[in-house]
Amino acid sequence: MSCVNSSVCKLCRRENTKLFLKGDRCFTDKCAFERRPYPPGQHGQSRLKFSEYALQLREKQKAKRYYGLSEKQFRKYFHSADASKGITGTELLRFLELRLDNVVYTLGYANSRREARQLIGHNHFLVNGKRVNIASYIVKKGDVVEVAQASREVTKVQAGIQAVARRTIPSWLDADHAAFKGTVKDVPARDEISIPVEESMIVEYYSR
Ligand code: SF4
Repeated sequence: MSCVNSSVCKLCRRENTKLFLKGDRCFTDKCAFERRPYPPGQHGQSRLKFSEYALQLREKQKAKRYYGLSEKQFRKYFHSADASKGITGTELLRFLELRLDNVVYTLGYANSRREARQLIGHNHFLVNGKRVNIASYIVKKGDVVEVAQASREVTKVQAGIQAVARRTIPSWLDADHAAFKGTVKDVPARDEISIPVEESMIVEYYSR
């Protein structure tokens, strides 16, 4: 992951939306964006007029930060999406949603995508019964993601399951928390992807 540190809340304020980077805190009144819903810095509350390019850049940055990716990683997904047969913007979001770290977070086995990456890197997850420690692994329809038997008491996994009650698990995933599993029922349709982003602007940004 790129240099996202303790001031991650500034990223939400910069992008003018909640990016949910701090786990459970994002759903409480301690959320910095709820308290100060304007960009950080001296001109944060000024009314600025943005160029077309600036708007496209912001949409790209928003998506990149939401999924916690570096520019290089994000651009790679764009090129893969551009080379696929579907609508480029939708395909881009699909790639991002189907990353193992996003699936682990969305199923509720981690409190944030960042935490999901750490847990995956520490060998706490299986895909179809085999250990996978690569956060960027792309899951497919029918894949079963499971917390390894020896990792089910890990505090972060337990906390994630507790906290997921605050979120909605999308219909393309089926979570079975009693069995510490989740199944990818299908690839997500655009309306099942909740990121508040205008993906066509990201396509325009990279097509310049
Ligand atoms: Fe911080 Fe709120 Fe953004 Fe979460 S949603 S990272 S608490 S500003």
